[in-house]
Amino acid sequence: MKINDVVSLFEKSYSEHIYNVYIPSLKKEFAFKGTNVGLRKSIAKSIISLNDTDYQITKLGLIKTLCIDNSFSIDSITEIDFISILAQIRNNNVSEPLSLSIKCSKCSGNFNYDLNFNNIIENCNKYVFNNITKIYNKDIKIEFDIKSPKIIDIIKLKKYTDDNNIVSANYDLLKYFLYINDIKINDECVENFSKLDITDKLKLFDNIPDDIIYDNKESLVNTIKDNFSDINNIYDSITCPLCKKNMERVITHDTFFI
Ligand SMILES: [Zn+2]
Repeated sequence: MKINDVVSLFEKSYSEHIYNVYIPSLKKEFAFKGTNVGLRKSIAKSIISLNDTDYQITKLGLIKTLCIDNSFSIDSITEIDFISILAQIRNNNVSEPLSLSIKCSKCSGNFNYDLNFNNIIENCNKYVFNNITKIYNKDIKIEFDIKSPKIIDIIKLKKYTDDNNIVSANYDLLKYFLYINDIKINDECVENFSKLDITDKLKLFDNIPDDIIYDNKESLVNTIKDNFSDINNIYDSITCPLCKKNMERVITHDTFFI
C-alpha cells in the first residue's frame, strides 16, 4: 500500500473543523482538518483487515490527508511525532474519553482505564535524546547523534524483518540502530550516514568493534536500549486496581482509534 493511495481513499472524509497540531521534531504547529465518525470507524476497522505495515501506512496517509499545510515531508515524521500527531488528532476530534477495558494478566480481573491524551502529547514534547560518546583504545572517539527514528524507517524495518522471518528479538535489536542519526569518528562525520538505508547501516556497524556495539553493559546497543528505546514512558503507567500489578505495554499508538 502506498501513502498516496490512502490519501485518495480518505480525500472526502473530513469535516470543516480546523485546529493546530504541534509536531515536536519540527517545533512548529500545522493546521489540520477535522475527521468525521465514518473516517475514524474505517481506520479503527482497518486494524483488523490490514497487516501491520499497511495499517501504519494508513495512519501516515491519514496525517497527510488531514494536514492542510504540506510544507513538511511525511517521510520526515519521527516515531515521537507520529504518536503525538495521532494523539492530537484524537484529542481535537472526539470529546468523549477513550475508555479501555483491560484484563489483568496476574489476577484476571477486569477494569476500565481512561486514556489521558494531554499527558501523552506533553510527554512527547518533552522527550529528550542525548548523544552518546564512546572511546575506543583510548584514542578513537566515536560520537553517536541520537534521535527519534523516522516512522517510515520503522515501518520498512518491520516489513523487512517480517518478509525475512527475522525473530522479534532481532527486530528490536535492529530498531536500536534506527536511533542513530549520525556518527562522528574523532570529530569527523561519517559521510551521508543519515541517508543510508538500514542494510547499509548494518554493514557499517559490522566494521565497528563488537565491544563498542554489543558486547558489554556500556555498549552502544545497551546504552540506547536503556535510555531511549522504551518510549512506553510516554504513556501513563497503568496499575491493576485489584492486585496492584503494574501493566506493561497496554497502550500503543495503535490504541488511539479504537
Ligand atoms: Zn490484577
